[in-house]
Amino acid sequence: MPWPFAFDNSYARDLPGAYVAWPPARVPAPRLVFLNHELARELQLDPDALQGDTGAELFAGNRVPDGAEPIAQAYAGHQFGGFSPQLGDGRALLLGEVIDRQGRRRDIAFKGSGRTPFSRGGDGKAALAPMLREVLLGEAMQALGIPTTRALAVAATGEPVRRERPLPGAVLTRVAASHLRVGTFQYFAVRGELATLRRLLDHAIARHDPALAGVTDAGVRAFGLLRAVAERQAALLAQWMNVGFIHGVMNTDNMTISGETIDYGPCAFMEAYDPAAVFSSIDEGGRYAYGNQPAIARWNLARLAEALLPLVADGDDEAAVRAAVERATEVIDAFPALYREAWLRGQRNKLGLRSDDAADAALAEDWLALLQRQGADFTLAWRRLAEAAAGDEAPLRALLADPQAADAWLARWRARCAADDATAGGGAQERAERLRRANPFVIPRNHLVERALAAAQDDDDLAPFEQLLAALRRPFDETPTLARYGQPAPAAVTACYRTFCGT
Ligand code: AMP
Ligand code: MG
Repeated sequence: MPWPFAFDNSYARDLPGAYVAWPPARVPAPRLVFLNHELARELQLDPDALQGDTGAELFAGNRVPDGAEPIAQAYAGHQFGGFSPQLGDGRALLLGEVIDRQGRRRDIAFKGSGRTPFSRGGDGKAALAPMLREVLLGEAMQALGIPTTRALAVAATGEPVRRERPLPGAVLTRVAASHLRVGTFQYFAVRGELATLRRLLDHAIARHDPALAGVTDAGVRAFGLLRAVAERQAALLAQWMNVGFIHGVMNTDNMTISGETIDYGPCAFMEAYDPAAVFSSIDEGGRYAYGNQPAIARWNLARLAEALLPLVADGDDEAAVRAAVERATEVIDAFPALYREAWLRGQRNKLGLRSDDAADAALAEDWLALLQRQGADFTLAWRRLAEAAAGDEAPLRALLADPQAADAWLARWRARCAADDATAGGGAQERAERLRRANPFVIPRNHLVERALAAAQDDDDLAPFEQLLAALRRPFDETPTLARYGQPAPAAVTACYRTFCGT
């Protein structure tokens, strides 16, 4: 069936040996459950032409569009610190790449499209609720201005998937800047397939760091890419941390070269501020706890560095290896400072500050410590700084166990705001406005996400999903109709909240 523009499949072309050509499974009764109109238009598709049966057949995988070359991509990965040399697309397929309206190359991929040679023991399928969850979380991140892969469509398959109990099945169509992962590099490095590894580096550079394309020195190319990934991940992690996002499964196969968030499995947004917060049922040791995420990103980058080393130094040349390790270490050691800079820039913005002061990091840290001690809702506490800026501290104090505990910090913040106004101009109302653009009111609250998914899964009722999605797309608005989307779950609900992987 025609796709309204040409696929141009550079991964399939550039990287033979890095994938297996594989068709999506046929499904019995496709039904289009979700179509992302805005994203469809961005991809130069006509959303109206994709409604109904056409879209259902297409997005369930029953009709492969012209020009698509479905492939299962190979990758490895460290999962919870342990290395799996072969993961790969066990329930996903890359259909191909398209160029969007802005000239950007985007991957179009399925998730839940059936078994592949990489499926190991899995069924290759996906259940409807986790795919809709991926829609909600991804669109929320997009609206918050955080780099992310996005959902183009979800098609129900009409086929049950066997989990703890039979669940309605679905296929997600995911759009990404690419699906290159740290684990993609690891796959070829660990096999000693250096020719493919080199082509992978070239491909990654062409896609994500074209400034390096003309460089011939192997070290500058490899460590240039490493540095660029470190910069993108530092910026991404800072954004995650500044909205209270917990990815939940930061394995090296779930960390992109592009710097986009990928794989909305067991992720969740934090409610009460707590650096030790973990929601994933399988993260028993808290490896991927909220506060550990920047350190894990650095650890993952070190794994990318290791995978790139054979391209720079021949293993038999000890001196060359030592020199290469040193250069890689420099990049990895620079990560905490890159992250810290990005984090502080974000914190200043969230505090309503435009100027820099040496004491800003301490001001931000003391604020977070206050939120933690007071058990305050992370999102609302930040949001209520807007009212405080405009002169009304009551809504903020109402979030704290001991409202007076904020006195000293608020006095410091006010003094800092006055100094900021003296440098950058503006006043209280203008700061309040700025704070409302920096600190979201609507995030995907776990209890609301679960309720919307349960309605879709158990009652075939998509209305709560659609209403929540609409609210998540306007995260900085605060209107009477949106009020209920801003409220935290009762603490008892949050305490018991667990998310699940790979469902
Ligand atoms: P994820 O937890 O989604 O990042 O997946 C980790 C690995 O497990 C990837 O190689 C997936 O393709 C594979 N996987 C997850 N769920 C399934 C499934 N139901 N069937 C086959 N492979 C799966
Ligand atoms: Mg994954």
